[in-house]
Amino acid sequence: MDSSLQTPIEATAKLTPQCIHCGLCLQACPTYIELGKEADSPRGRIYLMKAQQNGTLPVSGSFEQHISACLDCRACESACPSGVPYGELVEEARQVIEEQLHRPFLVKALRRYIFERVFPSPKRLRFHFDLLRLYQCTGLQQVVRSLRFLKLIPKRLVDLERLLPDLRKRVHHVELGTVFKAIGNPNHRVGLLTGCVMNEIFGTIHQATIRVLQRNSCEVVVPPTQVCCAALHSHAGITRVAQEMAKKNIQAFEQADVDTIIVNAAGCGAKLKEYGSLLRNDPEFSSRAHVFSQKVLDISEFLEALPTLSPLGPLEVSVAYDDPCHLLHAQKVGQAPRNLLKRIPGLKLVELKTPDQCCGSAGIYNITQYDLSMRILERKVQDIRDCDPSILATGNAGCLLQISHGLQTADLGKIQVLHPIEILDQAYQTSTEVPLDPS
Ligand code: SF4
Ligand code: SF4
Repeated sequence: MDSSLQTPIEATAKLTPQCIHCGLCLQACPTYIELGKEADSPRGRIYLMKAQQNGTLPVSGSFEQHISACLDCRACESACPSGVPYGELVEEARQVIEEQLHRPFLVKALRRYIFERVFPSPKRLRFHFDLLRLYQCTGLQQVVRSLRFLKLIPKRLVDLERLLPDLRKRVHHVELGTVFKAIGNPNHRVGLLTGCVMNEIFGTIHQATIRVLQRNSCEVVVPPTQVCCAALHSHAGITRVAQEMAKKNIQAFEQADVDTIIVNAAGCGAKLKEYGSLLRNDPEFSSRAHVFSQKVLDISEFLEALPTLSPLGPLEVSVAYDDPCHLLHAQKVGQAPRNLLKRIPGLKLVELKTPDQCCGSAGIYNITQYDLSMRILERKVQDIRDCDPSILATGNAGCLLQISHGLQTADLGKIQVLHPIEILDQAYQTSTEVPLDPS
């Protein structure tokens, strides 16, 4: 084991006593709301962690089951009066599971391949997305679906297949190593994290982010050696690989020499802001990780803090904003995206009843816990249906995919699902103020 890795049992034992068992977090927890069991609540899971640490509960069985059913959405952190760092606890509990649980050989091999070979390498990741694209573009997907092959394969794989986004449209990736000049005189030199899924599926959101930043006097650098942020690895308890990837990103952005590191995906932003904690015991990287994390801002935080925002054109749309859990609960950013949207002339911002409740995406939760994820999604879809906006805005790749899937399935495809930065970018397209050519 890497010497910089904190023993999870030591770390968790230090943290769990903070819980005073008041239960104030229960009604904030989507899995407790859905299943109604103490063991599927934050308090119940903390009891399970203590029992596992005390040696009275084995890792396999109910410990693994209830810890895996947690979304890691961190709504419990926002509700907790005692400041229990629940996200840290659950990730450390998952590290225990990862290290001690006996998994079948094939499952283990597949997990290793995906987490250790594919996600840390932008090239391999693109290759696998290209294969999926080919599956859809050649019509193979239609054949598989229409010939009802799906009835012959395990339900788990069928569920997975249903979640595949439409990859047939041409994706405009942002190429690593590119520098985009500011429009007019540059006031800021910022770095953009391209991430993994974001660049492969939502390259258009990166393009919109860059255009909006250029409009606001920013030179945008896309560091060439950056990799995926490792949030998925941390959530799965694969800490050693997460630490290695964090080090690569720290080096990549140090070399880029930027004032600010901009992130447009909530899950990635939360992870980058926690690199200091992830590498706290690494003598070479702990202080560099803190400096790095302090430079990280969500795109909405950055734009809202600018002394002036380049004037936006009008958009006659009604927008409901849904808070990504890792922006609201992990980064405590809730108002900035709303405030920016409100600055668009003609845009009507409408509020969902529970914008702070998870949509059930939670990284790969909708893959590993499909049924529960879809039950949680149904509540979100009902909330959106009642609100009836023309656009649903949210700032995270997983949430964009999950909510789009939910709306399509519920025959509500007329509601567009967009990232807030895409709406801002559209407002700039309608602006009468002609931008200067970047030079
Ligand atoms: S992280 Fe979310 S799902 Fe997990 S215990 Fe907390 S509120 Fe419940
Ligand atoms: S609100 Fe905090 S202190 Fe109270 S039970 Fe939940 S985690 Fe424990």
